[in-house]
Amino acid sequence: MKDIKHIVIIGAGASGLAAACAAAEAGARVTVLEKNHVPGRKILSTGAGKCNLTNARLSPERYHGGTAGFIEKVLKILPPAEIRDFFASLGLLTVQDPDGRIFPRSLKAADVAGVLVNFITGKAVEIKLLTEAVGVKKIPSGFEVSIRAVPPSWGKKAAPGSVTALNCDAVILAAGGPAYPQIGGSALGYELARALGHTVNAPLPVLVPLKVKEKFIKQVEGVRTQAAVELLSDGGVLARACGEILFTKYGLSGPVILDLSRKAVFALKSGPVKCRIDLFPEYDGKTFAAFMRERRQNMENRFWRDFMRGLADERLLLLLSDLAKAGPDKLVSAVPERVFSEFVGLLKGFELQLAGPLDFEAAMTAAGGVPVSEVSPGTFGSLKVKGLFITGELLDTDADSGGYNLHFAWTSGLLAGRHAAGR
Ligand SMILES: Cc1cc2nc3c(=O)[nH]c(=O)nc-3n(C[C@H](O)[C@H](O)[C@H](O)COP(=O)(O)OP(=O)(O)OC[C@H]3O[C@@H](n4cnc5c(N)ncnc54)[C@H](O)[C@@H]3O)c2cc1C
Repeated sequence: MKDIKHIVIIGAGASGLAAACAAAEAGARVTVLEKNHVPGRKILSTGAGKCNLTNARLSPERYHGGTAGFIEKVLKILPPAEIRDFFASLGLLTVQDPDGRIFPRSLKAADVAGVLVNFITGKAVEIKLLTEAVGVKKIPSGFEVSIRAVPPSWGKKAAPGSVTALNCDAVILAAGGPAYPQIGGSALGYELARALGHTVNAPLPVLVPLKVKEKFIKQVEGVRTQAAVELLSDGGVLARACGEILFTKYGLSGPVILDLSRKAVFALKSGPVKCRIDLFPEYDGKTFAAFMRERRQNMENRFWRDFMRGLADERLLLLLSDLAKAGPDKLVSAVPERVFSEFVGLLKGFELQLAGPLDFEAAMTAAGGVPVSEVSPGTFGSLKVKGLFITGELLDTDADSGGYNLHFAWTSGLLAGRHAAGR
């Protein structure tokens, strides 16, 4: 009789479910352990519930932590189009937006998790929910995984069950990272990897909102605007991006800030970082100053408040005007030149001192984890422990927003699943 491999996958998230599909397809018997009460809980929250599952403009440069070379190899072995083909083969229709971001056609993340779970239903796959892996040991016949039942998040008072053992031929560590602990993120995977002899680079929250030191920022909480944002450190520009920003009671959020957050988080480790916001990036400095002077001439007999109206968000303008010390009830002609220039300068370059990122509770992913140099780019097999595979966010690579993080989770999961099953 043909030997059927038994594979234990720790984590029914994006990479764990992809690995289960591939391993089941390759004929293995699979047990998936998931501490949440549903599989794919994090998938359901991705892309604000729409799940930006991949990107048509995928490239290694989108991945950080010095991993572009590793990702380049991975993408040669499993080209990006195969991820779209994989989801098409599961029955998922997709749509692409002008930035190349790919979503399920229904714009429902639940459909992405649903097609993955549908595929493995009826195959030799058991998903053990509310079950946590607490240890993994290499034994002569393969691995011994220690597991215990855990109470659901709404039943925290119940004690976890007693620890039992599960033996298998191969283990796929797909336990993710600490981002969004409220939906399953945890550092447990790092502990398991470390216990098996792997290195873990300290995790940092990335794709995360940023706090600023200026307390007055809470006056503009909730204001959304288009802007060009620069990160400044030691007088130099670290990074620049254009798009939507959101002011919050602690600082800054919105797509542009999330995308710049990685650079800011790492730069803050070695010194102060400022954020410069240009509310009129469509004008160069000289043209904008000329435009504002002409506006001032045309409105010199009006109140300053009326002069500002229509330029940008009212609350934001009031804050900047206060900072420049121009009273809203003055006549435009009574506002001194120095104050006017200061106000125009703030509209083109409003600087805020960054205080740090919000915590993992608000971070879409983690930088850090097991170095990619400790796994094979072709199989995601551990280079330290035969029969062990490591996938997804547990590895030390993280990407820009735009579907790149999930793409890596699917790719690493599919390759690990296939190879763990011995194909
Ligand atoms: C709010 C939010 C929105 C996002 N949106 C996008 C997006 O639109 N596009 C994109 O590309 N990326 C997005 N991401 C990032 C993306 O979700 C992750 O990169 C991806 O889910 C990582 O997959 P993974 O399999 O490594 O980990 P996860 O999907 O986190 O899965 C890990 C699973 O393992 C389980 N687990 C952990 N430890 C154990 C244990 N010891 N025993 C049993 N189970 C365990 C966890 O409960 C979890 O279910 C988003 C992230 C967040 C938080």
